[in-house]
Amino acid sequence: MSEMKPTRPEMVRSVRVFQALRNFGAAFRGVEADFYSMSKPTKKMQFWSHSWHGSMTAKVLTLYLTQNAFPAAFLSTILAFCVTMFFALSRIPSLDHVVSTFSERAVPCCLPLAFASYGLVLLFWQRQEEVFVDKLCINEWDRQLKAEGILNIGAILKSSDSMLVLWDKTYQKRLWCLFEIAAFLHSRPDGQKPHLVIRPTLLGPLVAVLNLGLIVGSGAAYLSAYVADLTSEGSGPILPFWVLFGLITVQVQFAVADLARRYCREVEDLSQELRSFRLDDARAWCCSVGHVNPASGGSIPCDRAVVERCICSWFGCVDEFERTVRTEVLSILDSQLSTALTSYCRIVEASPCILWAFADFSVSPMLEGNADAAMRLLLRGFAYWLGVVPAFLAVLYRMAHCLRRARRSWCLDKLVSMMLACFGVCLFVCTAVAEGALFGLLRPWLPRAAYGAIFCFSSLTLAALLWNRPRCFPRRPLFGASAATLRV
Ligand SMILES: [Zn+2]
Repeated sequence: MSEMKPTRPEMVRSVRVFQALRNFGAAFRGVEADFYSMSKPTKKMQFWSHSWHGSMTAKVLTLYLTQNAFPAAFLSTILAFCVTMFFALSRIPSLDHVVSTFSERAVPCCLPLAFASYGLVLLFWQRQEEVFVDKLCINEWDRQLKAEGILNIGAILKSSDSMLVLWDKTYQKRLWCLFEIAAFLHSRPDGQKPHLVIRPTLLGPLVAVLNLGLIVGSGAAYLSAYVADLTSEGSGPILPFWVLFGLITVQVQFAVADLARRYCREVEDLSQELRSFRLDDARAWCCSVGHVNPASGGSIPCDRAVVERCICSWFGCVDEFERTVRTEVLSILDSQLSTALTSYCRIVEASPCILWAFADFSVSPMLEGNADAAMRLLLRGFAYWLGVVPAFLAVLYRMAHCLRRARRSWCLDKLVSMMLACFGVCLFVCTAVAEGALFGLLRPWLPRAAYGAIFCFSSLTLAALLWNRPRCFPRRPLFGASAATLRV
């Protein structure tokens, strides 16, 4: 093991990404089955490192998102575009009643279809990349093969060209997790930069909540046109509708704000824990069960002895390994985790439903032959999707970081999250109102499409400034581990 050479070439194994995610990530949810038969010998793959002690659901959601969000967003947006064009260009008589029903309002076609397609691609995309996952590539049922598989971890890490770390707050406390990451760094040839991809498992739930908020917002925008019609006829209660919509929006924003604050706290704890890391403090499952298998009652050997022997062989001594964890591992985790939750690309991948909703609104003017108004709506869709929402989230994330500290009482802590949520909603409403006022001001002077283009350009410029200017939104570690310690 310490020489990082395989006992047999076929012990270095991998599965395809879609196999690892099969049955909604059954392998990660603790389902017992013969997953090993899916794996095949390989020479190069990505190593997936994760802790078995964090939330399984969050991990599976995050995996789906990091692996399949891009094809899901891309294909669904193409579908939304095709549906818009179909409605706009078709003059099919059977669609006449649809046109008359939805005239002047959003035609709810793109958003539901594209959203369904997004979900299907996200869940069932057959991604072919090869990956190593412990539960699928090490035989769990044959004691001898299992022991041999564990012995080959060094060789497997050496054959991996990159490592995906699914990080949660239990990760830095687990002996095997820190061992894997340190061994991966050690296995890189001199001068080669290690390709480490670190994804917090909070990403999955956060994006799910964010998407829920966007869908609720789009749905309410559709309904508002109908409610306004009913009110003008004297039969509809518009105020209760807006109060209900406001409450749902604040609730979703609250969940996002609370998760973002929690995440900032967890990354800060990581810095403090790893700065004072000692090998003796890292926990191993074997020690936690007293080296007695809870299922069979038989004795199990201690992983710590094996790990310590390898550490001494690779790093010279335990002190040097601890120094590596306190400097290199901390620096990599800290610098990537500080920005991992809020990457511009990730936000764009997760929120194309904004564009789909605007596409629905543009169908009506298209059917009436008003290309100018339709173009303005589509450009506004791009502006909100690629500019306004990412800029808005950059500001909110910065604020969540400033307000991350846990308050003494639970109520006070939730109140801070609620204040952040209300601030977010106010900021968004002000942006929408200001945009409407600007449109009213420029309307006599400019065609609608030209206004849409100006709005699109200015919001994209704002987003680019916020995401690229370190002063506005630091790309450096937020939590103080110096990037200068990164010497890998
Ligand atoms: Zn032990």
